[in-house]
Amino acid sequence: MKVPYVNFPQQFKEAREQTLTAFTAVMERGDFIQGREVAEFEGEFAKFCGVKHAIGVANGTDSLILCMRAVGIGPGDEVITTSNSWISSASSIALIGARPVFVDVSADQNMNPALLERALTKKTKCIMPVHLTGRAARMPEILAIAARHHIPVLEDAAQAIGASVGGIKAGAGGLFSSFSLHPLKNLNATGDAGVITTNDDEMNTKLRMLRNHGMRNRDEIDFWGYNSRLDTVQAAILLPRLRQLPEIISKRRTNAKRYVAALADIVECPVERDDEFHTYHVFVVQCDRRDELQAFLLQRGIETKIHYPIPIHLQKAASGLGYRLGDLPVTERQMKRILSLPVHQFLSAQQVDLVVDSIREFYKT
Ligand SMILES: *Cc1c(COP(=O)(O)O)cnc(C)c1O
Repeated sequence: MKVPYVNFPQQFKEAREQTLTAFTAVMERGDFIQGREVAEFEGEFAKFCGVKHAIGVANGTDSLILCMRAVGIGPGDEVITTSNSWISSASSIALIGARPVFVDVSADQNMNPALLERALTKKTKCIMPVHLTGRAARMPEILAIAARHHIPVLEDAAQAIGASVGGIKAGAGGLFSSFSLHPLKNLNATGDAGVITTNDDEMNTKLRMLRNHGMRNRDEIDFWGYNSRLDTVQAAILLPRLRQLPEIISKRRTNAKRYVAALADIVECPVERDDEFHTYHVFVVQCDRRDELQAFLLQRGIETKIHYPIPIHLQKAASGLGYRLGDLPVTERQMKRILSLPVHQFLSAQQVDLVVDSIREFYKT
């Protein structure tokens, strides 16, 4: 028995009919750009997140960039985020000419609100909490600090569609939020795709123009904009998947609970607080002898990942920011201890149990 980390062939096998039907409908009409299903998908996505507007874009990185552009962030500005994230959280800030500032995290791998206030400066123009692993950052605390200082919050909710904390759904707490629908995310396209959510009417109008060349209408361009639209084909394939998302999340939660029940005494497992709903985009354990364990599991046919082996502040790309080893002690300690176990919706209970048994066996030896 093998335990793959993802299983795209199985996803297609179970949804062959709906996928090909969606694809064919778009081919037959030919409205490839800003077509029928884009608006339909945006409407359902907004409803799912409990927000007024959803704006389809080309990918999750662009969605971060467009949001920060929409409020005029650029050279000389600072944006606060966390370092153990996918590179886009910081590259989006750097690419618009601003400076990424990293605050350390808590045991849950998300921004530690207690460290946020001291990272603020006169140049801080945005706070970007990342909802890492499918678990929302502490939004009640972060939003309170942001409100006190009149700084907009941009949620990097790329991994966390469907998550919530303190009654606030991912994508519904900040001025705007960014989602990725990359093939590896819980709600996944068959290529690149992204979404921005916002409750702000002005931002909605601006972002719709920014993603489409700054066009007011077919002939008039109000400002320099991007070509960053969600393809109609992707929207069509995503629509039925969005309707199936609660079930996908529920299966992931079942797998995660099975892991926690069987492993919490030997490795550090995520502890879901009473006020949160974790979607388990990634199931991360924190453990000793991580690299040895990963090799041991691979010998048993169990594929695991590390999200991420090098935090952004220690990447070569970030060397100009002046961070050094020791600057973010909690992030750096987690970097050596985190291991992502397979948790996807196509796992059987037997596969989860094999992972459990193998981990228990490793720590006995
Ligand atoms: C996937 C991801 C992104 C970027 O999404 P793309 O669609 O690949 O551009 C940004 N932030 C985080 C935390 C992600 O996991």
